[in-house]
Amino acid sequence: MKKRVILTFPRRTVQMPVTYRLAKDFNIAANIIRAQVAPNQVGKLVLELLGDIDVIEAALEWMRAQEIGVSLASREIVIDENRCVDCGLCTGVCPTQALTLDSQTFRLTFKRSRCVVCEQCLPACPVQAISINF
Ligand code: SF4
Ligand code: SF4
Repeated sequence: MKKRVILTFPRRTVQMPVTYRLAKDFNIAANIIRAQVAPNQVGKLVLELLGDIDVIEAALEWMRAQEIGVSLASREIVIDENRCVDCGLCTGVCPTQALTLDSQTFRLTFKRSRCVVCEQCLPACPVQAISINF
């Protein structure tokens, strides 16, 4: 199964090679969706984990034991294509370029794999075409 998680690293664990440990100790493939990690600072990592559900749960427990904050990113952004007028306002606030305007068609394009569900696009839309699905 796939599970998307948001990890928050305290300073003392920020250099920990988490994706390596996930692969080596738990046989979990970890796809990095977004990373904000700098030496000696609190770090954030959004990962998509691929593996057996029990093993993923064990890995999440191991991370919590290392004092890594773990939250599940189970919410999803939904774009109502019938409402969207392709104005592009949401693309200006999206930090990951999950929302872009196609340069040929000028239509809105949403790349779900890039979305970190930061919710910044919701208030930007003048026609309420963006919502969150829990
Ligand atoms: S929730 Fe955040 S990352 Fe996702 S599309 Fe909206 S602005 Fe972009
Ligand atoms: S802000 Fe709303 S209407 Fe404009 S492109 Fe984004 S989703 Fe579509």
